[in-house]
Amino acid sequence: MNELNKPVVQDSKIELWLWSLIVIVSICVGLMASRSGVGNALMIWCISLISGFFYLTPSFVAISRNHTNKNAIVALNILLGWMLLPWIGALIWALTRNRAAELMEAQQTAALERVCPFCAETVKAAALICKHCQRELPPLKHGAAQQPGVARLEPS
Ligand SMILES: [Zn+2]
Repeated sequence: MNELNKPVVQDSKIELWLWSLIVIVSICVGLMASRSGVGNALMIWCISLISGFFYLTPSFVAISRNHTNKNAIVALNILLGWMLLPWIGALIWALTRNRAAELMEAQQTAALERVCPFCAETVKAAALICKHCQRELPPLKHGAAQQPGVARLEPS
């Protein structure tokens, strides 16, 4: 389970970093506005906060979908997003086919199954008796189900 939780923690770190970026930039804009006396500093701060979030929409989409190329999308969004076309590109990229999520799903499905060491048929990981050859299956080793692909078992 710890293995599966790790990427989630990393994601929230990137998200926190993006939020800090938005807040710092909008505070700077607000301060600059108040110094130069242009309009209401608080209103400008609010507007820059909202537009900052809007600007980073492709990054948030990529992170929330746990996209395979989320780091590249975040970089493209921050560095080139102001040119509009790369911003649209980053948003479309963030919405494209997500291999990371598909792989994780496939691994989770595979973790629920194992191969019978006697008849080589796929059975449920929790099964104690093979439904194909009716032989008793060795108990599943702890952590074996978390490995990618089908868990390997030695005949006892
Ligand atoms: Zn069997």
